[in-house]
Amino acid sequence: MSHLRIRKVAVLGAGVMGAQIAAHLVNAGVDTVLFDLPAKEGDPNGIVNKALAGLLKLSPAPYASKSLAGSITPANYGQHLELLEGCDLIIEAIAERMDWKLDLYKKIGPHIAPHAVVASNTSGLSINAMADALDAKVQPRFCGVHFFNPPRYMHLAELIPCKNTDKAVLEGLESFLVSTLGKGVVYAKDTPNFIGNRIGVFSILSVIHHTQAFGLGFDEVDALTGPLLGRPKSATFRTSDVVGLDTMAHVIKTMADTLPEDPWHGYFQAPAWQQALIAKGALGQKAGAGIFRKV
Ligand code: NAD
Repeated sequence: MSHLRIRKVAVLGAGVMGAQIAAHLVNAGVDTVLFDLPAKEGDPNGIVNKALAGLLKLSPAPYASKSLAGSITPANYGQHLELLEGCDLIIEAIAERMDWKLDLYKKIGPHIAPHAVVASNTSGLSINAMADALDAKVQPRFCGVHFFNPPRYMHLAELIPCKNTDKAVLEGLESFLVSTLGKGVVYAKDTPNFIGNRIGVFSILSVIHHTQAFGLGFDEVDALTGPLLGRPKSATFRTSDVVGLDTMAHVIKTMADTLPEDPWHGYFQAPAWQQALIAKGALGQKAGAGIFRKV
């Protein structure tokens, strides 16, 4: 298996996943820069700094030690794009919106080092469509790397090649994921929502359907789909709050948008109560309120 020399990583997006991926990287001894949009007022790195402070309060803890929390370099796209030039790997983990991801790839293009590997943590948007927004020279070094939440604890990482990804790059990245980050890698094709979330959407929508059909409460369903199934901390609706209700709705929408012929197509819709929570900003744990008022 080939090896890549990955000493410094940039993570783009300091949200639920990006911040925790950055924490996992520094825990593994990898120099990490964490980017987000510039904050509108005050500290330009305010979004990243707030995310880093929030990580310390998460349970299970994303850091091996609190002192590591300060070792991630905060950055923003307005001031620090040149920091990307020293990175061997760039992991994109911004919101699950293709238009925003394509804009960002165009913006960072001139700052990607000639040897750097670029990977998207998308839950299931087209890796080939993203590759098309990148320079032809970058495409052989681009692929999807889908971590699961929480990335420190979830063992699985899906690796999704685009049509031009170089085999040696995939092997090198796989080796890094396994040896340095302790992941188990499964290769997935570039199909909507890959493997885990393709199955996951059916599972969550089915639970939501039965919750409504049987008039059950969220707590009751969580009791049935959590500890009883060997998932002591993460049952269906608590997990939805941890994932983010908006992100989950985007993942469902990917199937609605891309699988018009699927016999279950009419089923691919976030329920009205979820859409109402999203509309009022109750996005789950990251917003401090979601399905459960305190998450
Ligand atoms: P999030 O909503 O927590 O964070 C998204 C981040 O993107 C925010 O920090 C925000 O400031 C930034 N952002 C918003 N608009 C932007 C723009 N136009 N340009 C650049 N940055 C912008 O999202 P998340 O849950 O961390 O998800 C990030 C990615 O990881 C998504 O592709 C998602 O599908 C994927 N993912 C999420 C989970 C999960 O459980 N939440 C799991 C696996 C993969």
